[in-house]
Amino acid sequence: MASRKRPSAPLETHPESLPDRVHTLVIGAGFAGLGAAIKLDEAGHRDFLVVDKGDSIGGTWRDNTYPGAACDVPSQLYSFSFAPNPSWSRSFSPQPEIQAYLEDVARQSGVLDRFRFGVTVQDAAWDEQDSVWHVATSAGPVTADIVISGSGGLSEPKLPEIRGIDDFAGEIFHSARWNHDYDLTGKRVAVIGTGASAIQIVPEIAKKVAHLDVYQRTAPWVIPRNDRPYTNVERFAFRHLPLVQKAYRTAIYWGRELYVPAFTLAPRLAAPAKAAALANIRKGISDPELRKAVTPDYQIGCKRILISNTYYPTLDRDDVEVVTDPIAEVTPTGIRTADGTEREIDCLIVATGFYTTDQPIAHHIKGRDGRTLADVWAEHGMASYKGTTTAGFPNLFQIVGANTGLGHSSMVFIIESQIAYILSAIEQMRSRGIVAVEPRQDAQDAWNADLHRRMGRTVWSTGGCASWYLDAHGRNTTLWPRTTFAFRELLRRFDMEKYVVTTSSDADVKEQVA
Ligand SMILES: Cc1cc2nc3c(=O)[nH]c(=O)nc-3n(C[C@H](O)[C@H](O)[C@H](O)COP(=O)(O)OP(=O)(O)OC[C@H]3O[C@@H](n4cnc5c(N)ncnc54)[C@H](O)[C@@H]3O)c2cc1C
Repeated sequence: MASRKRPSAPLETHPESLPDRVHTLVIGAGFAGLGAAIKLDEAGHRDFLVVDKGDSIGGTWRDNTYPGAACDVPSQLYSFSFAPNPSWSRSFSPQPEIQAYLEDVARQSGVLDRFRFGVTVQDAAWDEQDSVWHVATSAGPVTADIVISGSGGLSEPKLPEIRGIDDFAGEIFHSARWNHDYDLTGKRVAVIGTGASAIQIVPEIAKKVAHLDVYQRTAPWVIPRNDRPYTNVERFAFRHLPLVQKAYRTAIYWGRELYVPAFTLAPRLAAPAKAAALANIRKGISDPELRKAVTPDYQIGCKRILISNTYYPTLDRDDVEVVTDPIAEVTPTGIRTADGTEREIDCLIVATGFYTTDQPIAHHIKGRDGRTLADVWAEHGMASYKGTTTAGFPNLFQIVGANTGLGHSSMVFIIESQIAYILSAIEQMRSRGIVAVEPRQDAQDAWNADLHRRMGRTVWSTGGCASWYLDAHGRNTTLWPRTTFAFRELLRRFDMEKYVVTTSSDADVKEQVA
């Protein structure tokens, strides 16, 4: 649909055809797939292949090129621990810098020869007889002993189901598929959504459009963004004194962990954040009616807390309107709200998020009894063991799986923890002649019972909001309800005792029986 601006020179690519057989197949080349490839390689497990349906490395940061795109966790923490970047220009880096960082890390790690871009995994089926995965891809079949899925928790754009949207005659695109060929200058534009992407987009495009309507279903809590360029002294120190950069990272890490009790135990601890958000509204907006319209009616933290200094002042502009009446339909020329008003537009930007609790890849992975992950999860929602492995799906490891998301800190910390767990599994399987591992159902059930007991007292459950963290059953199957250091500790070592294992001698017996 849309073209993207390339932030830096294209990566070296390897268009060779896929091998028929690899030990480990990695799906996705974002932070997860790239991190997994680097760590597999470092550990000497060089027989792997990474496939991505996109045209380059980066995942989220390749796809989200909208104006204003930037991380909302400081880059010192939102980067690999093993690849610090002394060149970050500011505390919250913009998308092109993050994309360039990932490309640099990929180049320097020497793993790109095992990446294939433009390759979509269409289907993966476990072969119980041979203890392997048969994977169908758009570039042909591959057989793999192990599949690591790094297909992303926020990867597949979700379009809103609104009457008439398909018949809209103007320009329409999703925030994650920005159309850089469409010039917004002087246009009447509507943005649907007020989540993390929308609040970055709105201040940027308001500068050039003729008129902007922002359709808000639920107001977000928005606190100030303490973003600033790094000084020359800081940048010099990051380059020449690595311990200084490490100290920054550590301080940011622990500062972020301080949010956890407010989310998981006592929401009243978030009072300072709420005060900061209310002050942000007062400072940014002069109109009392508008202040009221953008003040959330649920507890702070229940939905993702957003950060911006420019969002509220933008909403206060005369050429920007916040529309809170529900959308009734999209007409060929505009949007009609429930009160009957139609606002004409040239361009509609949908910033309505991603498939999160219904991960697209789950529809394509078939386990031991031929059912897909989606079939298994349809009844009670996503559930795995340690967010990484799933009963019935031997030798499948998911990065950023069920209940691994964060509301407060860097997903890269979670991703690295999961990669360490997977590496530990592969090491143990190799050294003990194990050909297949699958979590015991009772271990998986106990993990989820504990997790959801903890979830019950979090602000995400009690805060009085509906959020994308919740699935169709109203269960929070996306977030991790504890500290990130607890997660890391729990995944430090692959706990084989919680798994059903198949050894090479079991496999020989199966072969003889067949
Ligand atoms: C706009 C935005 C801003 C964000 N900011 C932050 C932040 O500040 N801090 C933070 O911690 N997190 C942030 N996140 C979350 C972010 O998604 C994660 O931090 C991280 O980038 C996830 O990496 P990943 O590798 O797991 O997934 P992704 O980066 O989503 O990569 C998944 C890859 O899998 C590929 N893929 C999917 N299905 C298939 C298939 N069937 N076949 C082949 N390839 C496939 C996709 O093409 C994609 O390249 C943000 C997300 C978005 C959308």
